[in-house]
Amino acid sequence: MKKIAILGITGSIGISTIEVIRLHPNDFKIVLATSNNNYSKLFELAVEFNIPELVITNSALQQKITDIPKNSDLTFGENELQRKIESVDSDIVLNAISGSAGLRSSITTISKGADLALANKESLVMAGHKIMKMLEHSNTNLIPVDSEHSAILQAIGNSTPDEVLSIILTASGGPFRDLPMSEFKNITVEETLKHPTWNMGAKITIDSATMMNKGLEIIEAHWLFHKSYDDIKAIIHPQSIVHSFVEFVDGSIVAQLSFPTMQIPILYALTHPHHIKSTIPKTNIIDLPNLNFYELAIERYPLYDIAVNAGMEGGILPTVLNSSNETAIDLFLNKKICFTHISRIVEKQISKFHNFQDPSIEEIIKINKDVYIQTKQDYKSLI
Ligand code: NDP
Ligand code: MG
Repeated sequence: MKKIAILGITGSIGISTIEVIRLHPNDFKIVLATSNNNYSKLFELAVEFNIPELVITNSALQQKITDIPKNSDLTFGENELQRKIESVDSDIVLNAISGSAGLRSSITTISKGADLALANKESLVMAGHKIMKMLEHSNTNLIPVDSEHSAILQAIGNSTPDEVLSIILTASGGPFRDLPMSEFKNITVEETLKHPTWNMGAKITIDSATMMNKGLEIIEAHWLFHKSYDDIKAIIHPQSIVHSFVEFVDGSIVAQLSFPTMQIPILYALTHPHHIKSTIPKTNIIDLPNLNFYELAIERYPLYDIAVNAGMEGGILPTVLNSSNETAIDLFLNKKICFTHISRIVEKQISKFHNFQDPSIEEIIKINKDVYIQTKQDYKSLI
């Protein structure tokens, strides 16, 4: 039985992981679970799965919470989260925290040497150079949870990077794929939160609508699969059935397919390198809709291009990209800015920044915070 720590258990990936574990009660034991605010869901799961260790990262809740599940030990705060990742005996840590807040937990997991099932793509976006270096000297296996990267991992199998000619990520195109660009400025928060094929947390749903998500995934693929940016591209595939393609140097192309459910890549991340028997609903090829593939119209998605360029520049720029984007999304969700302002804010913040290479984790965390504060303060002058 594998001992699993689930960070961000109350989110969309966390709950999909719970659904997978319910189907496989004899394969996995949850030894640590965390949330940021949602303690009632955390406690409900702690009772159902008899989870011994819980962390709530928002320490302001410490005064408020009294009724703790009787078989669980509960602690509060970000530092305590790192201490528990380090001290609780786990085989694999699933990092499903959203946004830049997930970075420290990825680093702690690798330092400890447990396997890391990584949904938190922002860790690799901000600190891919450091994470890949750390992995060279660690016992950690890093296994992506993101459906595209899970597909690429499966398609590559045991082939070396030299055998791979190119990686082609698929993107649904989001809810505004066919909307005339002249109407982009009127897009509402509610419309943006309705993704056509996936049901996800708010931040990644907005990133999918702006296509920032695919830009972040290109950066993620660059680090995970050791390919240059010139060899990775994204195409539109509205049905979200083919999760990505790998093209080999001999002309062969391998794809991975399934109906869009995160349960399959989550289960594979927890059982890699093996596929285990599961009752997750199967994909019947005969029932598949027609599959379409289109070039990605860059002019519709400025953030895709901005993200890929920031990835190519490297250094601290991907952190500035990620932080200004996270802040702009907060502002959009709070209806302080409109949809088209998100890309404008990110573009302006990146163009102002003096890049430098090989930032340390401490520099990344500091600049991430500085950019957040500064973007929040000055956003009116950036739109
Ligand atoms: P959600 O917003 O649904 O969930 C986020 C989780 O992280 C919640 O448990 C939340 O706790 C916790 N959390 C939020 N802020 C903090 C913080 N500051 N410190 C610690 N914990 C925090 O996100 P998703 O599940 O959609 O996404 C999680 C990650 O997985 C993201 O990086 C996303 O890009 C990636 N991903 C998601 C996919 C999906 O289908 N959803 C697909 C592929 C990748 P609380 O509930 O208490 O607020
Ligand atoms: Mg994805």
